[in-house]
Amino acid sequence: MKKQCPECNQHYELEPGFWYGTGYVSYALSVLYIIITFVLWWIFIGFSVSDNRFFWWMGITIGTLVILQPWLMRLSRALYLYFFIKYNPDYKNSPVVKFDNS
Ligand SMILES: [Zn+2]
Repeated sequence: MKKQCPECNQHYELEPGFWYGTGYVSYALSVLYIIITFVLWWIFIGFSVSDNRFFWWMGITIGTLVILQPWLMRLSRALYLYFFIKYNPDYKNSPVVKFDNS
């Protein structure tokens, strides 16, 4: 990820350790993904105690979750930035967002 926006020069890392918060966003996205796959599996394939369908769902979900991690992490950073930096239509004449740590 770039240090700052090439268009408006907004710095992305607003303070040291800013990105630690994305772990919570990434966790929430992962849980959401697991819930969605669970519901879809339940609707289209179903769960049963007499066969291994549950374990197939678990294996496929964990495997795809690992494969999707680079995109989930990037999406988490983008969502986390939206918490703090709102879109400003007049960004060319406005100062960039900074935390007031003085
Ligand atoms: Zn920008």
